[in-house]
Amino acid sequence: MLQTLTNITDSEIDILTEKSVEKIENICTSKDTMMNILGVTPYNTKMTPFQKAIKIYPPLLSDTYAKDVVREVKDSLLKKYRSGKLEVVGKYTFLLPDFYAACEYWFGGIENPNGLLSDKEVFCNLFKKSDKLDCLRSPHLYMEHAIRFNVASDGYGDRVSKIKEWFTTNAVYTSVHDLISKILQFDVDGDKSLVVAEPDFVRIAERNMNGVVPLYYNMRKADPTLLNNKTIYDGLNAAFTHGNIGIYSNDISKIWNDDVFVEGSKEEQGEAIDVVKLLCMENNFCIDSAKTLYMPERPDWFKPVVSKYTKKKLPAFFKYAKDKEKEQVETRNQSFVNKIFDRIPNKAINTKGLNLGSIDYRLMMNNVNVVCSEEVANLYNELNRKYRYMINMKDEYIDNLRYVACQIRKLFSKTGYSDEIIADMLVEYLYGHEKRYKQLLWFCYGQCVVNSLEKNIQIKKTKFIQCINCGEWVEVDIDSKRIRCDDCFDIERRRIEREKKRKQRMSHQLTK
Ligand SMILES: [Zn+2]
Repeated sequence: MLQTLTNITDSEIDILTEKSVEKIENICTSKDTMMNILGVTPYNTKMTPFQKAIKIYPPLLSDTYAKDVVREVKDSLLKKYRSGKLEVVGKYTFLLPDFYAACEYWFGGIENPNGLLSDKEVFCNLFKKSDKLDCLRSPHLYMEHAIRFNVASDGYGDRVSKIKEWFTTNAVYTSVHDLISKILQFDVDGDKSLVVAEPDFVRIAERNMNGVVPLYYNMRKADPTLLNNKTIYDGLNAAFTHGNIGIYSNDISKIWNDDVFVEGSKEEQGEAIDVVKLLCMENNFCIDSAKTLYMPERPDWFKPVVSKYTKKKLPAFFKYAKDKEKEQVETRNQSFVNKIFDRIPNKAINTKGLNLGSIDYRLMMNNVNVVCSEEVANLYNELNRKYRYMINMKDEYIDNLRYVACQIRKLFSKTGYSDEIIADMLVEYLYGHEKRYKQLLWFCYGQCVVNSLEKNIQIKKTKFIQCINCGEWVEVDIDSKRIRCDDCFDIERRRIEREKKRKQRMSHQLTK
């Protein structure tokens, strides 16, 4: 989504990468950031047993296994950021039309309805504090950004509550007067937009969209035909012969990252953008060709123009984005996404000085007198070696691996011990003897360990509340009366104090 923003300064890149850099740099600065990286957050409603265990018993963070997991998460974040997927305040949400206008048309008999939204307006209740949003398609090939006024934001006063009666979901509602559906090329049958609320991002995107008009071309409709074995075969055949759309998006990426946008003239850049436009069109015909059996032929004049850009290798950041080998990518030039690379630091995982506490592994056992048998230990080593890459950080339910988990447990149960006892044995074996590789324990017996922890450790009962000011979810004591997050609580407290002082001053002046 970033590579098409070719008009961007170095200091703007600093601003856009700031959050991502912060996240990498803070991974090991506190217990909380470590938990956050591991997915132990108020937003995670489907925690894996390992996450639940860390929440109940944070000293687990000091173990090598937790550190290994943190390192893996960090590596995947690095990869994500360096391939141009940065942290932004934004969310994928469904695109919807102005249903009020639809009702005016259907039931009011109004030929050209006004609806509730004017041109250049959207309504997205997810971002009440943001009056301007960038509604974009991600990934996208051309410049599918639409910067729009958000009528759901506070500044719109009475209009918000009136519109809310009709627009009740967290989707982004679009105006009937707006060409936004052409810019973003969407239908309202389940298409989503990435809605970004970050002011700096919106401002940069807005500048890049100056003078950009939607791409528009007539697509051919498929001739109606009877469905039979022959037509189905023809369709499949066409899909496999023309259906290679990866080629277009790779070629378009080559152009957006070409040196022409680093040091080329306006004319040269214009030509490059024209090539992108035509490739986008080809791409869309290609997607449809399985249905329409029609693919326009590339004219002779166009071929050399395209290959000027596409004969090059893939942009350097594809090494991270698509796991390409060094030989398959160009050397790193100064395109926007490539520039991000230098700004995203790698950081060693170091938990010294965090005071995570040491682990008393007996708290993870149902019966502390259990000692691991050699048979179970050997079986563990064998199976963990075999399965650890497949099941690492996975959950049998969430990741649809229940069959694998059951198969492995079945092998263990042949030793004659119950699941609880095997869990205890493995905890004793792995944590009692400081073994490093614990993937299989957490994958197969994680819930047993959590049950033991819950039995052995008093957990405070808590609940989740949503801050009435900023909307952030926070965890508080079960009988707490808090309605704000820590930050907003402080702001509110200071406001009240200021108010009190002001009133004191006033009454002071009056009595003088
Ligand atoms: Zn708040």
